[in-house]
Amino acid sequence: MDVQVMADAVIAGDRRALARAITLVESSRADHRTEAAELVSRVAGSGRQALRIGLSGTPGVGKSTFIESFGMMLIGLGLRVAVLAVDPSSTRSGGSILGDKTRMERLSRERAAFIRPSPSQSQLGGVARRTREAVSLCEAAGFDVILIETVGVGQSETMVAEMADLFVLLIAPAGGDELQGVKRGIMEMADIILVNKADGDLKPAATRTMADYAGALRLLRKRPQDPESFPKAMAVSALAEDGLQKAWDEMTALANWRKENGHFERRRAEQARHWFGEEVRQGLLAQLEAPEARAAMQALGQDVAAGQRTPTDAALEMLRQLAH
Ligand code: GDP
Repeated sequence: MDVQVMADAVIAGDRRALARAITLVESSRADHRTEAAELVSRVAGSGRQALRIGLSGTPGVGKSTFIESFGMMLIGLGLRVAVLAVDPSSTRSGGSILGDKTRMERLSRERAAFIRPSPSQSQLGGVARRTREAVSLCEAAGFDVILIETVGVGQSETMVAEMADLFVLLIAPAGGDELQGVKRGIMEMADIILVNKADGDLKPAATRTMADYAGALRLLRKRPQDPESFPKAMAVSALAEDGLQKAWDEMTALANWRKENGHFERRRAEQARHWFGEEVRQGLLAQLEAPEARAAMQALGQDVAAGQRTPTDAALEMLRQLAH
């Protein structure tokens, strides 16, 4: 399909075109990359803006249950919801945390929902670009809310936080009064911590855990750009569909506050700048993988090992060759 035709179809809300467009941005073939870059810049002019919500949590915390309940609630409010998954560490059969369609069964049947599994490639840099471009495509296609899900491991959270307007961390109720090994850096990224499974026997533990996190969040870095009450911890039950509306109200309150104060656009601008830098870095690294570059690295490396060149001198020579 012609890139302009595809861009028009995506903007017109054609789901099949959107799925094909995402397949195109996921491809690592050089000719596909060129087309994908063109496609993404063409849809960038759609002028549409979704709320991009990053969602993280360790396996078993209830992410898919939450996305299903939360997504259904949003659809009930008349909103269109896209779900994208980032799973750079995936080695599972099928290679995807969302590959299994039985996850989010109700949501996947909804016309107002679009669920896209994580591509199986495992290189973080590539995953970042593909996800970011898929987000732009969903935004251009007119989705109101884009949930970007990631598992709570490795660097994927930082990456998702860098492409989301809000970052939500899902936590399970803790047995004791300890904060469950959640890394400080991840807590610092969270705008809202949702302690899930606040139902039945787990409710008291969830309430305690929520209080613990609320306390911990108060001690963390103050955010002068946000209202006093953020970041905040709340208890929800994805299964009982409890607290979801309240969580959404808080998310929209924070997003609206940031919009009114210019922080929303500023954050997006900073993110765009960040991804520009990342793309350049990735591009330079990719140049090192080209056959001539590898041969030159090998030859210069040997010279260095043999004491015929200093490491600095050889590196300068290598960089000179790359610049040509
Ligand atoms: P994920 O791995 O983070 O996507 O977690 P799942 O959504 O697959 O949920 C893992 C398990 O926790 C499943 O058995 C769910 O039924 C259960 N679960 C999810 N949300 C809740 C909840 O709100 N309350 C309770 N009690 N169980 C839940």
